[in-house]
Amino acid sequence: STFQSVGLIIGVTGIVGNSLAEILPLSDTPGGPWKVYGVARRPRPVWNADHPVEYIQCDISDAGDTLAKLSPLTDVTHIFWVTWANRPTEAECCDVNGGMFGNVLAAVIPNAPSLKHICVQTGLKHYIGPFETFGKIKPHETPFIEDVPRLNAPNFYYTLEDMVFDACSKKEGLTWSVHRPAVIFGFSPYSMLNIVGILCVYAAICKHENAPLKFPGTKAAWNCYSVASDAELIAEQQIWAAVDPYAKNEGWNCSNGDLFKWKHLWKVLAEQFGVDYVEFDENEKQVSLAEMMKDKGSVWEEIVSENQLTITKLEEVASFWFADVIFSGECMLDSMNKSKEHGFLGFRNTKNSLISVIDKMKAYKIVP
Ligand code: NDP
Repeated sequence: STFQSVGLIIGVTGIVGNSLAEILPLSDTPGGPWKVYGVARRPRPVWNADHPVEYIQCDISDAGDTLAKLSPLTDVTHIFWVTWANRPTEAECCDVNGGMFGNVLAAVIPNAPSLKHICVQTGLKHYIGPFETFGKIKPHETPFIEDVPRLNAPNFYYTLEDMVFDACSKKEGLTWSVHRPAVIFGFSPYSMLNIVGILCVYAAICKHENAPLKFPGTKAAWNCYSVASDAELIAEQQIWAAVDPYAKNEGWNCSNGDLFKWKHLWKVLAEQFGVDYVEFDENEKQVSLAEMMKDKGSVWEEIVSENQLTITKLEEVASFWFADVIFSGECMLDSMNKSKEHGFLGFRNTKNSLISVIDKMKAYKIVP
């Protein structure tokens, strides 16, 4: 074939998966020209349909479905793992996510003789521990660096790592890379955790109700230095690791490379939606965004119909609980030194990243 590489994106409509689907097929992408397969459960949405990707509807938690749909893909050279399943406990997360990953590996590895590399996306919870143990176990010292020992707590990120280590040890020439972003700024109405999407929806609701855009978090979160990870930057790092021999068999932090404060981005958000910016008010009792938004389903329906937006349900486009987690305290910072020292020099200006994601949300009529 005329393709140099063949990518299989598991989670092609997700916050990073959609960016990989956009970037991989471009003519100047390293390792290319790329042929690309992309997997997700739901039918292909319009905002993903322009990417030249062979879309495969498949539930990877179902071993039979996965084997049937992925074992015929005998030309795959690279797997991009950008998906996950949430469960009430971390033990269940280990089980379910390990099961999904195992189904994909079992369908692809024995049938794709040219498979060379597997990129696995995890995150900074590698250094902090899962949501359920936040505040209960001592996280690593910040700024996080990649090569520290694991925390002594269950973590599905460790499950995925162990599985990819094992798979690569059993196949000559097969390599891995693990990517650990901070909170991701990206476009995807199908993402389980999309902070910018959540904030856009919140701002649109404030605008509709003529209410000021209050910061639903703590003073620490408003004032502290924070880091974020642009979805396209994460895709670029994964493609770098897929291609560059110096990037193999290593874990990589992946954040924008600048610092920001939410109080500054808050002003940008308010401007983008034409709502009144208000400073954080120390005297006001903190309310959870999930609590504030719990009865806004019908308001969202009104906003969608008045502005002729893409039909979405509130709970689908905005998991408000995630904003409550992000804004609960001071952001924990990571270091990008290892990436830079090994030759990945990509970065983003986080303010510009925020604006470009908002523009895209508006262009695809997800928000007004
Ligand atoms: P998203 O939730 O954005 O996307 C998940 C993708 O996987 C979607 O395309 C979804 O589509 C698909 N998918 C989900 N379940 C299945 C299934 N059973 N079979 C086939 N496809 C499936 O993922 P993220 O990029 O957010 O998450 C990847 C990793 O990144 C996770 O480990 C997460 O913890 C980590 N991370 C995320 C951050 C964030 O801010 N989002 C921050 C830091 C780390 P469909 O539902 O249609 O199947």
